[in-house]
Amino acid sequence: MNFVLHGSPVSAGITIGYAHLVSSARLEVAHYEIPAAAVDSEIERFDAALERVRGELRELTGHIPADAPAEFSAFVDLHRMILDDSTLSEVPRDLIRSEHCNAEWALVRQMAGLVEQFDAIEDPYLRERKADVRQVVERVLKALLGHPGPTPSQTSDEQKLIIVAHDLSPADMILFKQHQFGGFVTDLGGVTSHTAILARSLGIPAIVGLHLARHMIRENDLLIVDGLQGVLIVAPDPAVLGEYQLRQSQLELERQKLRRLRSTPATTLDGAPIELHANIELPQDVEDAREAGAQGIGLFRTEFLFMNRRSLPSEDEQFEAYRDVVAAMRGLPVTIRTLDIGADKALDGGTGDAGPNPALGLRAIRYCLAEPHIFLAQLRAILRASQFGRVRLLIPMLAHAHEIEQSLALLRQAQASLAEAHVPYDRGIEVGGMIEIPAAALALPMFMRKLNFLSIGTNDLIQYTLAIDRTDDTVAHLYDPLHPAVLHLVAHTIQSANRAGMAIAVCGEMAGDLTFTRLLLGFGLRNFSMHPAQLLAVKERILRTSLADLKALSARVLRSADGTRTRELIAKLNS
Ligand code: PEP
Ligand code: MG
Repeated sequence: MNFVLHGSPVSAGITIGYAHLVSSARLEVAHYEIPAAAVDSEIERFDAALERVRGELRELTGHIPADAPAEFSAFVDLHRMILDDSTLSEVPRDLIRSEHCNAEWALVRQMAGLVEQFDAIEDPYLRERKADVRQVVERVLKALLGHPGPTPSQTSDEQKLIIVAHDLSPADMILFKQHQFGGFVTDLGGVTSHTAILARSLGIPAIVGLHLARHMIRENDLLIVDGLQGVLIVAPDPAVLGEYQLRQSQLELERQKLRRLRSTPATTLDGAPIELHANIELPQDVEDAREAGAQGIGLFRTEFLFMNRRSLPSEDEQFEAYRDVVAAMRGLPVTIRTLDIGADKALDGGTGDAGPNPALGLRAIRYCLAEPHIFLAQLRAILRASQFGRVRLLIPMLAHAHEIEQSLALLRQAQASLAEAHVPYDRGIEVGGMIEIPAAALALPMFMRKLNFLSIGTNDLIQYTLAIDRTDDTVAHLYDPLHPAVLHLVAHTIQSANRAGMAIAVCGEMAGDLTFTRLLLGFGLRNFSMHPAQLLAVKERILRTSLADLKALSARVLRSADGTRTRELIAKLNS
């Protein structure tokens, strides 16, 4: 059946491919048929996932502190037993063989039977153990999710797979990052959720907030994802398909043309140099940053190093990751943001206790100050990496003067411990703060007195100014970067920093959105940090811009109290 769904566009571009339904490692999974020739490899995939989870549980056992309560190791032992019980480890293999079904489905079907048996048990303690069965199954599903199985559509390079999910966590996206998918579509999510940001960083078309896509689309349906308009076409007719194939090749041509600008300096028509930096999530993203000709890393979201794992990365592991990025940037500045965990970026991939209101809870610097040993290990790792190039340290979600002071005190402590051990580091390391809470934007002198630079996180600034959860598609229509309050805070922060001679950048999604390039230049911004995939398009816009033309119009945008008028003025600015 041919139909069209509308959602929020996440990342520009068009992709055409076949639907691959996935679960977000939760217990709703796709059921699809495995071709006879692929049954053996599907069983191998299942076995490999079991083996991986066995390894995780072994690792967990090895890390149990001596003083941990006895229940803890009993619980890990129980999970190991459940995993090795033939109901979960053997029967799904038989199901895959006899029914030619995918491993996820076989596993969940078995789990359902097992959970029913638990329900019949009278002893309340034993009955509750079904939660452990679910947790073990979730672990195996997660391991399978990282290694999607063959589907009938995965037959050639041209036939791309498009992930269709109800919801995906940022941790899930990191797993998908290792595979070559053509696009992503989800029922839930807002355009500046971290899941969406990661999809954008992959440079592939994606749409979120499609509501019923996961329910309506079947495995292997032919899909067109128009990430520009947020339109998903299911089972298109040949004329529509032809039209989109044409548009797709036009977009590819435009991308190729942009590549020629890689080493052209980003200078406006009236000669003002503009700095364009890249945002990265994982050390390997540094390649994309270099390919896009970024002048530095303006935001390294380090929390992604902490995801999809049961234990925290050690100081040494972190040091190596930071050093690799710093070395790869060959003397260009690398702004490493300290751990911004919490809200939609839960450490364990979203199953932890996030608190009653996660976005307002123990997130980012609040979490780090509550867990100083984690923060100190990260600070030491960043400092150790600082001797391999030019490192800047950026602290997220600051709102209070005492948070700045405590952060700086812990930094001094980390520095002292390194100095004592004669470990070299850059003693002149610059420390900056994210301006992403309205309170911070309204109390700038407090930040400017104590820090060396500022970076505006527009994603959170908008979320907290307008009181809308950036991950919630039901309020996505209220997420408005052009709201007068948002524009006022952004312009005020840029202008105040410029007046005080303090370095200021924007590293939220507004920096990589062409709609706002000229407006931000008009507000006085000279340093943008964005996903590498956006960088050359923003550069091209800058090359065609004269600053002299912007001032008056952007001031008018700032004064406008009427949304329609604001949009007209923006259109004029961009014409
Ligand atoms: C922001 O809030 O704009 C930002 C850059 O940080 P993150 O998107 O990681 O919250
Ligand atoms: Mg933020």
